[in-house]
Amino acid sequence: MPHDYRFETLAIHAGQEPDPTTGAIMTPIYQTSTFVQRAPGEHSGYEYSRSGNPTRTALEALIAALEGGRYGLAFASGLAAIDTLLRVFNPGDHIIAGNDVYGGTYRLFEQVCARFGLSFSWVDLGDEAAVRAAVTEHTRLVWLETPTNPLMSLIDIAAIRKLLPKDILIGVDNTFASPALQQPLLLGADIVMHSSTKYLGGHSDVVGGLLALQDEKLYEQLKFLQNAVGAVPGPFDCFLVLRGIKTLSVRMERHCDNAQKIAEFLANHARVKRVLYPGLPDHPQHALAKRQMRGFGGMISILLADEKAARAMVTKTRLFALAESLGGVESLIEHPHSMTHASTATSPIAVPAELVRLSVGIEHCDDLLDDLRTALE
Ligand code: PLP
Repeated sequence: MPHDYRFETLAIHAGQEPDPTTGAIMTPIYQTSTFVQRAPGEHSGYEYSRSGNPTRTALEALIAALEGGRYGLAFASGLAAIDTLLRVFNPGDHIIAGNDVYGGTYRLFEQVCARFGLSFSWVDLGDEAAVRAAVTEHTRLVWLETPTNPLMSLIDIAAIRKLLPKDILIGVDNTFASPALQQPLLLGADIVMHSSTKYLGGHSDVVGGLLALQDEKLYEQLKFLQNAVGAVPGPFDCFLVLRGIKTLSVRMERHCDNAQKIAEFLANHARVKRVLYPGLPDHPQHALAKRQMRGFGGMISILLADEKAARAMVTKTRLFALAESLGGVESLIEHPHSMTHASTATSPIAVPAELVRLSVGIEHCDDLLDDLRTALE
């Protein structure tokens, strides 16, 4: 599939040709663990489904195309994707990570990877002097989210690239924006990662992770690790993500429209102390958001008076379901301090207890507004 098709077209077609024998327009779910060989080592390109599976190949080609990369790799979860990436490094290597990230990423880095000799610095990546000061001769990777989870800060990817020597990789967790709104490889990042559990899958029915990148040597290392470590998704899960991505563009448009209206409503509500949404003109990186993103996304965080008010609100909504995760067609609400980010609670990157995070779905916006109005009464 030529990469010069536009994003919306690639999302439906890249990596997916109609089945050559049956004409099936949807990529078949190759629900098989192994592939028969004509003679030892003589096969059709597939040997065993941990090493490769045609449904997974389609998804890997698709994410590469959507991120403007050459290579894609699929994993059993977003964390499995990050974990496999970190196995490229060696004991003694140092990683600079943004000081606002998904709690599970913090837990993986500090409670798992640190035991194997990697060290981490948690840095405000918006502060160029702090980034420069954190770099050591052992620094191999800068890991960032933009927008960040859950404080909705933006990091200027092109500025970080300019700041760092070329041999330090930049990895971007693009889960919140999705490639429909932001393509980090085109801004100078080396690796893009997704929890495809979120906007890419889009229907809260699958857990998965993806990497996309340009560099052949790094791809070969990651491809080796994908098979050697084995944290791969099953063919049915790959199919669900392939199907979800077909509607990514139209879903993201509605997520953005609804979230903008809801952010404006919340910004004018007496019970809400602060709204963190890059689409609001008072967001500290609103100008960067306009430059770096094609839309402001479906995620909003708000600060209420105190933890009690935050906990009360998340139990009072009816349409916004109280649940971890995000990016599905249905709206979700959560209390990061005690839920998604509980693992950071006693760390330097703990999130405020009065914070509530909304994943705005694609329901009718007026129903969502009514729900929030009632919950805040
Ligand atoms: N990155 C971000 C920004 C997330 O929000 C999450 C999950 O919530 C992950 C990574 C981890 O992905 P998964 O839950 O698919 O392992």
